[in-house]
Amino acid sequence: MEGNKVSSFTRRRFVIWGLIFLVGMSSYGFKRKAKKERCLLCSKYIKPHLAVDIVLKKKKIKVRTCCPMCGSAIEARFREKGIEIESATGSDYYTGERINYLKGHFAYDSKHIECCVPAIYVFKKKEDAEKFISRNGGQYMTHDELLSTKVRKKLEEGLKK
Ligand SMILES: [Zn+2]
Ligand SMILES: [Zn+2]
Repeated sequence: MEGNKVSSFTRRRFVIWGLIFLVGMSSYGFKRKAKKERCLLCSKYIKPHLAVDIVLKKKKIKVRTCCPMCGSAIEARFREKGIEIESATGSDYYTGERINYLKGHFAYDSKHIECCVPAIYVFKKKEDAEKFISRNGGQYMTHDELLSTKVRKKLEEGLKK
């Protein structure tokens, strides 16, 4: 009788410690996942110097993408569905400064590829976008031009690859 009591007590202790261990492990795993954020659109890991953040008017929902290619593709999808955008930020490729993406200057379809294809980089100054293009190829575009139907098609094709 006595022995049975002890073993059930020990077993219960094992179960409790096991649960604590599991909870601990899963929260550890969660933290690791949070550190390595993935793009909402293509699931690539996010590189801070390329990331684009889009804030939607509704509920101020923030969406993060891996690079200006996915940023523009998702922005076009939002606009098509009539989802209003409050603001968008990206990193100036030369300085790393977080800038207004909607007023950025872009190097489109550059030979220099760091994330998605067609590769797109954003700059605060038009001169910097042009300097980048003269070295790495590509085409200069304003934010509006980036949302044109022709570019949009290329972006959607790029996502399928
Ligand atoms: Zn992406
Ligand atoms: Zn990307």
